[in-house]
Amino acid sequence: MAGGDTEVVVIGGGAAGIAAARRLHDAGVDCLLIEARQRLGGRAWTIDRDVPVDLGCGWLHSAERNPWVEIAQAQGRAIDRSPPPWTRPLFNSAYSAADRADFVETLEAFRHRVGEFGDAEPDRPASAFVDLSGRWAKLIDAVSTYYSGVELDRVSARDLGRYADDGVNWRIPQGYGATVAAHAAGLRVVLGCPVRRVDHGGQRLAIETADGTVTADAAIVTLPTSLLAKEELVFAPALPEKTEAAAGLPLGLADKLYLSLSNAEEFDTDRSFNGRTDRTETAAYQVRPLDRPLIECYFGGGLAAGLEAGGRAAFHDFAVSELTGLFGNDFARRVKPIHHHSWLADPFSRGSYSCALPGKADCRATLATPVDGRLFFAGEACSKHDFSTAHGAYLTGITAADQVLSARKDKPI
Ligand SMILES: Cc1cc2nc3c(=O)[nH]c(=O)nc-3n(C[C@H](O)[C@H](O)[C@H](O)COP(=O)(O)OP(=O)(O)OC[C@H]3O[C@@H](n4cnc5c(N)ncnc54)[C@H](O)[C@@H]3O)c2cc1C
Repeated sequence: MAGGDTEVVVIGGGAAGIAAARRLHDAGVDCLLIEARQRLGGRAWTIDRDVPVDLGCGWLHSAERNPWVEIAQAQGRAIDRSPPPWTRPLFNSAYSAADRADFVETLEAFRHRVGEFGDAEPDRPASAFVDLSGRWAKLIDAVSTYYSGVELDRVSARDLGRYADDGVNWRIPQGYGATVAAHAAGLRVVLGCPVRRVDHGGQRLAIETADGTVTADAAIVTLPTSLLAKEELVFAPALPEKTEAAAGLPLGLADKLYLSLSNAEEFDTDRSFNGRTDRTETAAYQVRPLDRPLIECYFGGGLAAGLEAGGRAAFHDFAVSELTGLFGNDFARRVKPIHHHSWLADPFSRGSYSCALPGKADCRATLATPVDGRLFFAGEACSKHDFSTAHGAYLTGITAADQVLSARKDKPI
């Protein structure tokens, strides 16, 4: 690249950045998308060797209003609308159907209490809404580590209550990540080029990258909050309100490990269960996802962070210990690790999805607010109701692009 000039630079080629750049490109704006990695998609990432599997987002949450559904279909991809495993019958011996019904009722009651939490009251940790001595307290905490990437005591109840879950969840068998990346087809993109500094002190913006400086009239910043909080992208002059907002919205952690499963037909397709029901540090397992001979193991929060230190082998050992606990020692011979990614160790994400700390729910609005009509912010953490998701990221990208277009109309840039 070694420098250049453009109207708008979009920094980061994940779901938000791609949505923004596509919108601007389609509106006839000269736009350059600069991405640090050698691939597009960010936390949306499909690995396609034998079968496509998603190491980042996999579920089209709120599917009936999720814009990626239409995009995937326009790309010629099928949508799987079968019920998600967590709504199907169980087969976990440690956990009977009656137990599960009781757990689901307790979890729903917790979510209802959090959803009803009034805006006038001071914020509290979501753990304040759980009966900590209750039978399902640990399992609800474990679910929080999958859902929010952290344990309940680090989750803002106000933020959690604002999340809009329409309860419809579909999948793209060819991959959510592949869909997101393909949406960038035809855009002007530079890969493998981390942006280091945005100088917004002069008449035009100077975007300093690992491979030269690009001048521009406007920029859309879509970096994960983990990187903004650590000022891995420097703003000159500094933007302390953005750094502080990002620090209030740290990325929780969720990591996936895929195991191949021999004699998979013995299991019904798309079934899920937890390794344990009596502790927070347990993984969630999905057997035969989309009828494939695999187990998707999902690790969240402190458990995932601890296992990352030991790499893929540590995740594998933990999964095998839980699975053999449920299905007997011979089960160890039926599974082999095939794909895994450590999102906390990943230098361009440093975590999985944002979660507002107690008292910090309004940091999302602060982060999303434009600066001087030429620095715009997008990314899942900017979404008030759809944070943590790929569709939330998309929608914030569209909002930021529309803000650029309207600033351009008001004052031709
Ligand atoms: C394990 C896991 C499971 C998930 N499951 C789901 C799910 O089922 N459904 C769902 O909707 N969501 C899910 N998510 C969340 C979803 O993937 C993210 O919310 C979404 O992809 C974030 O998009 P984004 O554009 O905001 O951020 P990102 O995808 O992180 O995009 C930011 C981009 O900026 C780039 N970047 C970083 N630093 C620089 C720099 N200095 N210069 C230039 N570029 C830089 C990054 O490489 C990245 O490409 C999951 C995430 C993970 C990790």
